Amino acid sequence: LMQLSVPLNFIGFIYREIRQAMTDIEQMFDLLDVKEEVTDREGAQPLLVADGKVTFEDVHFAYDSNRPILKGVSFEVPAGKTVAIVGPSGAGKSTISRLLFRFYDIQEGAIRIDGQDIRDVTQESLRAAIGMVPQDTVLFNDTIAYNIRYGRPSASEEEVAQAADLAQIGDFIARLPDGYKTMVGERGLKLSGGEKQRVAIARTILKAPPILMLDEATSALDTSTEQEIQASLDLVSRGRTTLVIAHRLSTVISADEIIVLQDGRIAERGRHSDLLAARGLYAAMWDRQREATEAEETLRRAQQED
Ligand code: ATP
Repeated sequence: LMQLSVPLNFIGFIYREIRQAMTDIEQMFDLLDVKEEVTDREGAQPLLVADGKVTFEDVHFAYDSNRPILKGVSFEVPAGKTVAIVGPSGAGKSTISRLLFRFYDIQEGAIRIDGQDIRDVTQESLRAAIGMVPQDTVLFNDTIAYNIRYGRPSASEEEVAQAADLAQIGDFIARLPDGYKTMVGERGLKLSGGEKQRVAIARTILKAPPILMLDEATSALDTSTEQEIQASLDLVSRGRTTLVIAHRLSTVISADEIIVLQDGRIAERGRHSDLLAARGLYAAMWDRQREATEAEETLRRAQQED
């Protein structure tokens, strides 16, 4: 029996290792939401980013043909400006971010960066030009330094630390017993949602992409964490073409344009104050969210008094 159980243990060990490796790969694909159906066109050239203007021109898109998600969406993110996409759950906000990365091809219309149709350029160059701070960052089972440096593998230790400081996670890392060598991910230290998001911000600071996409967390962070993260995000997005996918509304107040998506079309667009004054869909969403936040605050205060 001894003879048998040793190899069995070993097989168990190998099995777990393989499973972890598979999980890593799956998570990576999840993170990119990759469907490997989009390929480079023959003779595709690298994207040439001049100032990073993003244009959606009459974009039509469906994941499956009998259920259209975007039915003619047009907007522009001028170079260095911030546009926020808001709208009810399921309206197609995250879909827009996937389309800009060209994880799927659209059925009609065009998506351009500085005038170049993203179907005509190499996917590698397209993805290199866009920095993404996703809703939920998947960490690699490696050190926290590795996870930050992933944004630019050639970055020096000083640059990694600088990016961490800008993302307001430097102090947190300094307090860990192993500092930047601390193992994180599934097998290491588990980071909170806000900490993971800061790692993603630090990565993006290192990558310094001309175009930035922020997919705001759906799950609420506590107010002070949210404000700190917002401050780091403002810092990264300054002077960069930024598309914010806003699942909550707190981050859109300062956007140069807010686009309200509903039933696959743009229902309203404008700046925060204009949209509030228009007393339409955006204003209604805003009121509802404010009521929800107030209710939460009241509840929290009541709990504290108990
Ligand atoms: P939320 O605010 O809830 O995150 P959203 O506006 O970001 O919503 P999307 O994630 O863009 O919404 O989804 C838009 C619609 O597309 C949804 O109805 C969703 O079910 C559908 N959808 C999303 N991803 C896929 C997919 N991979 N295959 C098929 N349908 C999908």
